[in-house]
Amino acid sequence: MGSLYFQICSFFYIVLLCFAFYGKKRINSQENHIFSLLLITHIIGLILDLVSTYIALVNVEFFLLNFICKLYLVYLVVWVAIFTYYIFIISEYNAKSNESVRKSFILSLYIITAGFICLALGLNLNNFSEAGIVYTYGPSANSVYIFVGLCILSWIFLIYRNFHSLKLRKCLPAIFFVISIIFAALIQKSHPELLIVTSVGVYVTFLMYFTIENPDVKMIELLNIAKDQAEKANSAKTEFLSSMSHEIRTPLNAIVGFSQSLMEKDIPQSSKEEITDIINASQNLLQIVNGILDISKIEANKLEIINTEYNFEKVYDELVSLTKGRIGDKPLEFKHSCDSSIPPVLYGDYARIKQIILNLLTNAVKYTEEGCIIFKVNSVVAGNVCRLIISVEDTGIGIKEENIGHLFSKFERFDVEKNYTIEGTGLGLAITKKLVELMQGRIVVQSKYGEGSKFTIAIDQRIVPKTLEEYISETGTNTSEPFRGCNNKILIVDDNSINLKVANRLLMNYKLNVEMVTSGQECLDKILDGNKYELILLDDMMPKMSGTETLKNLKKIIGFDTPVVALTANAIAGMREKYLEAGFNDYLSKPIDKFKLEAILKKFLKEDTTEQNDDTIIVEKESELPMNSRNVEYLKSNGVDVGHGLELLGDMETYDMTIEEFVKESTERIKKIEEYKNSQDMPNYAILVHAMKSDSKYLGFMKLADLAYQHEMASKNNDINYVNANYDTLMEEANRILSIAREYIK
Ligand code: ADP
Repeated sequence: MGSLYFQICSFFYIVLLCFAFYGKKRINSQENHIFSLLLITHIIGLILDLVSTYIALVNVEFFLLNFICKLYLVYLVVWVAIFTYYIFIISEYNAKSNESVRKSFILSLYIITAGFICLALGLNLNNFSEAGIVYTYGPSANSVYIFVGLCILSWIFLIYRNFHSLKLRKCLPAIFFVISIIFAALIQKSHPELLIVTSVGVYVTFLMYFTIENPDVKMIELLNIAKDQAEKANSAKTEFLSSMSHEIRTPLNAIVGFSQSLMEKDIPQSSKEEITDIINASQNLLQIVNGILDISKIEANKLEIINTEYNFEKVYDELVSLTKGRIGDKPLEFKHSCDSSIPPVLYGDYARIKQIILNLLTNAVKYTEEGCIIFKVNSVVAGNVCRLIISVEDTGIGIKEENIGHLFSKFERFDVEKNYTIEGTGLGLAITKKLVELMQGRIVVQSKYGEGSKFTIAIDQRIVPKTLEEYISETGTNTSEPFRGCNNKILIVDDNSINLKVANRLLMNYKLNVEMVTSGQECLDKILDGNKYELILLDDMMPKMSGTETLKNLKKIIGFDTPVVALTANAIAGMREKYLEAGFNDYLSKPIDKFKLEAILKKFLKEDTTEQNDDTIIVEKESELPMNSRNVEYLKSNGVDVGHGLELLGDMETYDMTIEEFVKESTERIKKIEEYKNSQDMPNYAILVHAMKSDSKYLGFMKLADLAYQHEMASKNNDINYVNANYDTLMEEANRILSIAREYIK
């Protein structure tokens, strides 16, 4: 009976393990299925073991004992086969993740296992029992030893082959099994009364449970993987959104810039109205891009509140005039009041405060057909803090009680059938709430469906002990008079020739003397050569020397005191302050807004006080080619989307000028791209393929733009393999386009 202790103990363990394993919620994974199979096989094996020992003890017929022993051998073969499959899954399959390899492995394992089962059952098995101990030997048992031996070899091979990708914890049971089976065989030999083979299997399974298959450990592991993946996906999304913002802003730059310059021309009123629509639509698009960017930054905890000194009354006035503009012809009464006791200079993020209130006012206008909108600002001053209490009330459609709880969730829009004509993304209030919270403020909603809504926010701002006059004299203010230049010298620095063109077009409207260069180094050279400018507009994202670096170098030049304004398409709220911190005097985002540009000019340039002369100085020489003298059909027949190019560049003349510049720049650019690729300098490679992509898009070389974009993304991720593998394709297309362009401008 003593010989049964191991089996009884093992049986007890395996039952306990079954409770632990099946009693918990499990993940539906291959490894868990295999583990479950191993448990069931063990129970069967142990029952067979117990029965055979019992039969031996009670001396039942030889035939029955022989049959049970053969079944026991089958159990051993099956258990070892399942364990082999487990080792395969955690090593080879995980490493290669190849479904066809898995299928062929299973098939071979099935065939081999079935073969050995047939051998175990069919071959001769001898056994005799003595004092309750069953001794089994003969060809049938030998075939099982061979099978186990082969399987152990395959485990060693699989683990060795994939050792680098395997966690030690995972292969621990296999290592333990191999060691203990050797010990078990030795012990069994010297103490045949101890039946420990099945027990070894049980302990291995037990170990597996605590090292790998414990559902909690497994669950945490999988959750961690999922969390990592989600975080990666989220940061990829943020990156994608900010790069998309850049992508969208660049063509918008062209659209708004050229539209605004068209407005200056002598064109029929109806065309002016259409251009106004284009500008409005572009500005709406820009707002959407900014909204998406804001929400993704908020989610990634990357949105910063940037506090500066500001005058609230100015913000209030701007909000009132913006809202009036948005009301337009709607039969809405707009009542507004602002507490006159608000201190003149506050310290806070005025741009975000404006964004918050504007969201509420815009919603009030959007969701109110008639009646009135009441915009009130009150304040409570305590010590050096001013609490702004801002309310926006409307007599609009109101919000159902059950929707109020979801109001601040992103992408939530209500009564969509009713409001389908009202534009919106469902992001405004989500951003508003997050911004209010970031400023430690509060937002409250009261609404009655069908009657109207009232949003109230409370935000604390620090009071700056300054008078309005002091503030104005420090920051400088603009008069509403249009800017009148007086041949002021301006330098524009941008590596993208097309961006230069857009900026130049806008500046043509003023009496200015504009010079353009395409790199930070050229800008430095100009200053070192003794050229004096009254203003420098400096692009930030440039190869070799960024705008910020260029500025640092400029500041090292003794006597350099020219105001420098950052110019960039990477424009998101908060950037202005960042550029100010970097030493720029101000910041202009692309697409360049005509009015913002004018404000900058007014701020930094001397004005002509004499009687105005209408001539505007056009420094850049326009192309002398007559319009449409070139063969556009040739471009089209070679797959160039000239229409797309014209949409962005406005007219054929500009298109032709741009294509000439493209040809001029491309040879050198392609050479440099090759150099950067060879030296694996991915940051500079990214800048150049980015420029290639931008220019190609402007000119309608869509395939090249697309290929260059893929390379830009890969090089930004330092994916040298992708760059190398796809470099020839990019160059083939670049050279094809270059020869088409050369032929065209010939
Ligand atoms: P959007 O206006 O772009 O859809 P918001 O996040 O600003 O997104 O608003 C979410 C939803 O809340 C809106 O779609 C609208 O159904 C509702 N809502 C917001 N403000 C008002 C309001 N003043 N009156 C009625 N409904 C409103």
